[in-house]
Amino acid sequence: MIETVFEPDQVAPDAHVAIKTEILVIGAGQAGLSSAYHLKRRGLAQGKGFIILDRNPEPGGAWQHRWPSLTLSTVNRIHDLPGMKFADAVEKQSDTVQAAVAVPQYFAAYEEAFELPVFRPVNVKVVCERGGRLRVETDRGNFSARGLINATGTWETPYIPDYPGKDRFKGRQLHTRDYRTADEFVDQHVVIVGGGISAIQLLNEISGVTTTTWVTRHEPRFRQGPFDEEAGRKAVALVEERVRAGLPPNSVVSVTGLPVTPAIEAMRARGVLERLPMFSEITEDGVRWADGTQLTADVILWCTGFRGSLDHLAPLMLREPGGGITMTGRLATQVARDPRIHLVGYGPSASTIGANRAGSAAATGLMSYLEL
Ligand SMILES: Cc1cc2nc3c(=O)[nH]c(=O)nc-3n(C[C@H](O)[C@H](O)[C@H](O)COP(=O)(O)OP(=O)(O)OC[C@H]3O[C@@H](n4cnc5c(N)ncnc54)[C@H](O)[C@@H]3O)c2cc1C
Repeated sequence: MIETVFEPDQVAPDAHVAIKTEILVIGAGQAGLSSAYHLKRRGLAQGKGFIILDRNPEPGGAWQHRWPSLTLSTVNRIHDLPGMKFADAVEKQSDTVQAAVAVPQYFAAYEEAFELPVFRPVNVKVVCERGGRLRVETDRGNFSARGLINATGTWETPYIPDYPGKDRFKGRQLHTRDYRTADEFVDQHVVIVGGGISAIQLLNEISGVTTTTWVTRHEPRFRQGPFDEEAGRKAVALVEERVRAGLPPNSVVSVTGLPVTPAIEAMRARGVLERLPMFSEITEDGVRWADGTQLTADVILWCTGFRGSLDHLAPLMLREPGGGITMTGRLATQVARDPRIHLVGYGPSASTIGANRAGSAAATGLMSYLEL
């Protein structure tokens, strides 16, 4: 294997060449950009020191794919990246602007302002051990690094639970990730599965144009009281405790609860928040519960969340027998089984504020571990 220094033009397939760098950052969403900002700020040079790769053709991380009705007023909250305010980067916009437009504009301005060239589209296929270094194979050539900051998010890995009969259903099944607009469902009965914020938002929109049934595994967890900084800290601490113990992170809503917003009060008043427990089986034309009750439906919309997009790390055997990854380090970003690897935007840092903090902790922790 020939190892070579980084030249942007070299990002091209050649099985015998690997572009050498100290730290490779995979993913340029909130978590990857924050990490890159801190690596650079601590004196690491782009190229020989660190390289950022991203699979998407444009800036914006997963935000560029969010559905059109997710606007700046309906997102939870997007935290500023370190060093540049959202409001300063993007022209004053009304709250009705799509998150899928505004956030990518912000990220593009950020990459330019801090001179963080992201190489895209570059899809990392696999990362494996090679002679004490990490070999990163992509669709545009190979890289060789001493450390890795993995910031690949969750959007690429939608989760749909397995229910008997799912292949029998003649209607349409889709995941949150595939949702575009409620108008697609006019005159169809839609079963919406899931107890998280996305499920509620899509239920709100779809129930405005057609009939719906809402099913969740547990009683919905409506939150009492405000979700202030203290509540946020407690929620993060619960996820952090799990990943430090090597358990898979649990769903966001299980620790944050659902905020009771005016929109939710209005849904309650309209009677669309009447939730049913999970069905036990999917039939040709609907769903059936264990007591034999049947419901005819045209669409099943699975708002059942996402998992960390980590398949490319499989050869490194980072997982515990139970499927979790034991995390360590100041903010639990470092993989205990392989300290050369940090996961940011994973578990306790799977939010825009968490991703910001994780980027700083991972950059500092990894540079210190690699003695850079
Ligand atoms: C519908 C929805 C709404 C949300 N709303 C909010 C909110 O309002 N506030 C909040 O704080 N959080 C929200 N979140 C959580 C949100 O995902 C995170 O806060 C944050 O944006 C995630 O940033 P990230 O950098 O971890 O991931 P992403 O933004 O997903 O970026 C990951 C990047 O990695 C790239 N990538 C993935 N795999 C590979 C690969 N193999 N090779 C190369 N590149 C790869 C992707 O192309 C992508 O650009 C929401 C999540 C969802 C699903």
